[in-house]
Amino acid sequence: MPSTGLRRTKIVATLGPATDREGELERMIKCGLDVVRINMSHGNPEEHKARAQKVRDLAAKYDREVGVLVDLQGPKIRITRFAEDKIFLNTGDKFALDNNVEKNAGNQYEVGLTYKNLPYDVKPGDKLLLDDGRLVFQVDNVEGERVNTTVVVGGTLSNNKGINLAGGGLSAAALTDKDKEDIITAAEMDADYLALSFPRSAEDVEYCRSLAQKAGLNCAIVSKVERAEAVADDATLDGIILASDVIMIARGDLGVEVGDAQLPALQKKMIKRSRQLNRVTITATQMMETMIENAIPTRAEVFDVANAVMDGTDAVMLSGETATGRSPSLVIETMGRICFEAEKQRTARESTHRIDEMFTAIDETIAMSAMYAANHLDVKCIAALTESGNTALLMSRISSGKPIIALTPHLATRRKVTLYRGVYPSSINYDGMDDNAVRASTVQHLKYHGLVQAGDLILFTRGENRGLMGGTNMMEIIKVE
Ligand code: PGA
Ligand code: MN
Repeated sequence: MPSTGLRRTKIVATLGPATDREGELERMIKCGLDVVRINMSHGNPEEHKARAQKVRDLAAKYDREVGVLVDLQGPKIRITRFAEDKIFLNTGDKFALDNNVEKNAGNQYEVGLTYKNLPYDVKPGDKLLLDDGRLVFQVDNVEGERVNTTVVVGGTLSNNKGINLAGGGLSAAALTDKDKEDIITAAEMDADYLALSFPRSAEDVEYCRSLAQKAGLNCAIVSKVERAEAVADDATLDGIILASDVIMIARGDLGVEVGDAQLPALQKKMIKRSRQLNRVTITATQMMETMIENAIPTRAEVFDVANAVMDGTDAVMLSGETATGRSPSLVIETMGRICFEAEKQRTARESTHRIDEMFTAIDETIAMSAMYAANHLDVKCIAALTESGNTALLMSRISSGKPIIALTPHLATRRKVTLYRGVYPSSINYDGMDDNAVRASTVQHLKYHGLVQAGDLILFTRGENRGLMGGTNMMEIIKVE
């Protein structure tokens, strides 16, 4: 049920050592956390499972739904380790990345690699970005399995830092052996969302979904758009969006590959296109970065979060801010306030979605009509009876200020809609009821949860054959007695 003043934009927070602190997760849930992200790049399966269980226990305790998103590591290419943990490189230094350097034996002149194909994927003149672009190396030449480079931007380089190739083009497949094992762990955790790192195309996404299904996990698939290839042309991007349930605008790696200046336009484009195609978006990385250490965000961070909300994102994500930050619950509370205010802007409430289009499906027609009616009549909320959550998804593609209550007996559906903007899951059971009883019971339920009172109007949608997916074919306006 909606708790914190009906903020519409959802907050995804990464779990980590900081959220393991006594009472922290509980505070985060009370501050309105919607979805937790379990980052498979760190930790071990036992730790992840224990964290997911704790989230579920606490959500049950507070009668809230909190989604669980398992984020696969993917083929993040890294250097190995230095004998002395870190080195300092000056501009102009010569430095080599070499498959044959032992994994703890990096030094001032060379270091090993986790990705053995790198020497075959690069050519002289290519730019390699290390540590999210903090250092830049230019490739001089390749000698067997050794890539010789000149440092273009120097700085400190420490153990296990990531490598990106400017412009993209690394041949690494999106799913590694570790990812395949982690999908089994995600199935054991009954994850609601599975995030695929570095997909290049729709095929990568489909392959990931098939592996999840094979593991018995029928959850939603999140594609992290973070490779230059994924945004190289509209057909590839559309393919990835359509193959996915959710698109993550993974600004960290994406910015390194395509250049940071490209990010704002790409973010707007991806959010808009995903909404058009009835898909959900998460805007991620460095949104509240300085709150890892500070108690308040910078003005720029306030604007970044608000702008993402005005761009129409479903959710905003926190990474290090919650995983290793000084006060995860404070970040969530702060971010929630910023979203809530931004949502009052006209651009966040008005929509021309599908206005000039023909509809092809009955449930979509009902969903669109319901939103049109709700936005033009003083209704208190939209109550959508839903099996898979699809009606609520379609409705939430239209910007509006009206809460969409997704009423469903299915736990998996309630957890899935935790990510949809403006949608609030609610548990209800209509077993054996006729239409009048369903209507009465819905009104009673919404009243009980304080969402409506006598005199309010409710916009109610449902299907005449309950239990049928995509069966929504009725819309009704009810006046609360
Ligand atoms: P990561 O993905 O945090 O797993 O790297 C997000 C990003 O690249 O922005
Ligand atoms: Mn990334």
